[in-house]
Amino acid sequence: MTNTGLHDPRHLYPHPPFAKQPQAAPGLDAKMTPGADHGEDSYKGHGRLQGRRALVTGGDSGIGRAAAIAFAREGADVAIAYLPAEEKDAQEVIELIEAEGRTAVALPGDITDEAWCGELVERAAKGLGGLDILVINAGHQQTRESIDKVSTADFDETMKTNLYAMHWIAQAAVPHLPAGAAIITTASIQAYEPSAALLDYATTKAGIVAYTKALAKQLIEKGIRVNAVAPGPIWTPLQPSGGQTQQKVQKFGEESLFGRPGQPVELAAVYVLLASQEASYITGEVYGVTGGRGVA
Ligand code: NAD
Ligand code: MG
Repeated sequence: MTNTGLHDPRHLYPHPPFAKQPQAAPGLDAKMTPGADHGEDSYKGHGRLQGRRALVTGGDSGIGRAAAIAFAREGADVAIAYLPAEEKDAQEVIELIEAEGRTAVALPGDITDEAWCGELVERAAKGLGGLDILVINAGHQQTRESIDKVSTADFDETMKTNLYAMHWIAQAAVPHLPAGAAIITTASIQAYEPSAALLDYATTKAGIVAYTKALAKQLIEKGIRVNAVAPGPIWTPLQPSGGQTQQKVQKFGEESLFGRPGQPVELAAVYVLLASQEASYITGEVYGVTGGRGVA
């Protein structure tokens, strides 16, 4: 696809049925069939983030990867945080950032560790020479059919990854952020329409919405904007690596108004807008990219 011309959005990108494709969490983009589109061949920058310095958690794959590629093409230097098991995906993103002539910083580590959350922010700020865009996007999602199947360890991992790490990373980053900086969190349609089998995950996503709105009220006092993006079904490794059952992966996105899942690239422009100076009157908002379901 090109960025010129008009296309019926229902007819873009792959549609279900998809093949079953189980993989262990964290999933790898490299193992997805069909492969996901993060804008590698299509996203064109327009200098909207010239000279900016961005940290994207979960920037190796999926939605974070699309944001990282777009940020670099808009002129930003970009640090990506990810798990060590995702090095292969991460290296591809590092190469794409560097191909734009921008600085890339790789930050492998586990964000369920508070000390690492502080350290990754310091390393990002040092490697980039400052920080003015923070995308808190890393997430953990495992489907469990009933309440008795959600162990304390499961619940803890979801809370630690999606809520505690968000707080630890934001807390470490705020002292670095100048007026005009932007924080973007990644919530979900699950905050508004929770699925039965995503009890713990949906709870964290509702928490992310509340945290984002509260932080926006605090940080406007420093001239910093804070917004959330709420995706619907997006074709990323989160889903086949336990985020959904394999039966649901086969039909993934079928229930959206488009009859297909969204691709990560279809969120890139939203992250760019919320990060950019052009969004100067936008804070405490939740921006839906849900495939027509809306956010309430
Ligand atoms: P993804 O698997 O590509 O990205 C999630 C990333 O989280 C991983 O790449 C990994 O680097 C990171 N991560 C997970 N646990 C970590 C840990 N302990 N330490 C460090 N990093 C860790 O999948 P995605 O769908 O692009 O997910 C990005 C965000 O989008 C998540 O917050 C997810 O909840 C949200 N989201 C996704 C969908 C969807 O349908 N794919 C829908 C709504 C919201
Ligand atoms: Mg990944």
